[in-house]
Amino acid sequence: METPRLEIHIDRIAHNASAVISQCGAQGIRVAAVTKVMQAHPALLRALEGSGCVMLADSRIDNLKRIAEAGLDLPTMLLRAPTPGKAPEAVRWADHTLISSYQTAEALSNAAGMAGVRHKVVMMVDVGDLREGVWPDRAVEEVSRIARLPHLEVAGLGTNLACFGGVIPTREKMEMLVTLRDECRSATGHPLELVSGGNSANLPLLASGEMPAGINNLRIGEAIILGRNVLDRSPWPGTRQDTVELVGGIIELQRKPSVPIGRTGQDAFGNTTHFTDRGLRLRAICDLGRQDAAPDAIEPVDPGIEVLGASSDHLIIDVTDAETPVKVGSEIRFLPSYGGLLSASTSPHVRKMATGRP
Ligand SMILES: *Cc1c(COP(=O)(O)O)cnc(C)c1O
Repeated sequence: METPRLEIHIDRIAHNASAVISQCGAQGIRVAAVTKVMQAHPALLRALEGSGCVMLADSRIDNLKRIAEAGLDLPTMLLRAPTPGKAPEAVRWADHTLISSYQTAEALSNAAGMAGVRHKVVMMVDVGDLREGVWPDRAVEEVSRIARLPHLEVAGLGTNLACFGGVIPTREKMEMLVTLRDECRSATGHPLELVSGGNSANLPLLASGEMPAGINNLRIGEAIILGRNVLDRSPWPGTRQDTVELVGGIIELQRKPSVPIGRTGQDAFGNTTHFTDRGLRLRAICDLGRQDAAPDAIEPVDPGIEVLGASSDHLIIDVTDAETPVKVGSEIRFLPSYGGLLSASTSPHVRKMATGRP
């Protein structure tokens, strides 16, 4: 089979989705499944289709178009505020948009008016991670202004943590969001039903039983797709981690020294190189370079194989201790982490292949 390729195990992702969504459901939380790390690939959409998620969410309008083309009967959410110029496209392809600025809301309202629709927005509040969101002391005022725009419905409030600042979701942060929602509700008279507490990083709080009752939505990508607790990358209970595999083919296999011969300068990417002398090693080159996947974000399935590094087109691996013998033409399997999956999914050089029925 062709390499490099990404094997997407639909049945395994579907299993993870059901597990995570039922954990959330047991505490009154509905899940928007986040598809961006796999560019909303149709195989992922098939895995999510019957999983019980109530919405599909993505940060890119391109990907939302893909979701529409797949013909799934689920509402969509645009996770990243569009530039005002992209508001017409956002209104066309998303049912909800997460926003944090009045200017965005105004552009969305105008675009919705032109299209003859009412667009739903969720006001993001920054409770400390310092990525998107209005500062809490301005939330009531901003929501009140936005609620007066003619073609929008403010569906509720949301927040996002553990992305830029690495801030861990806590009961206090979630209570702050619920309280702000209540204040905005009183100020506007609108129900502001949706309270979207965050992403996969909120699941440990949920599992601890400390999630306040007012939180009724989470936007989950990684915990479903890769089965990870994103606070420490340990396996998330009830999920599997072998949902997607990256496969490369060996194009060279040679015994070589572990330290380069000659005076060394910078490598192909401007880094200074360091090597430990481990003597002669059996080394292989896979047809997987940085154009295909981030080499530090993929882990060989064979525990005896080690990734040494990569240039644009060559992945150098040490196969001296490989449990399965390899030769030129052998396939090597890797499990990607989030960054590895993001890079492989978005690389036009990596063939995507779906396996397993949900
Ligand atoms: C990417 C993203 C998510 C999903 O994050 P995961 O860690 O993959 O669960 C949720 N919300 C927003 C706003 C995002 O950008």
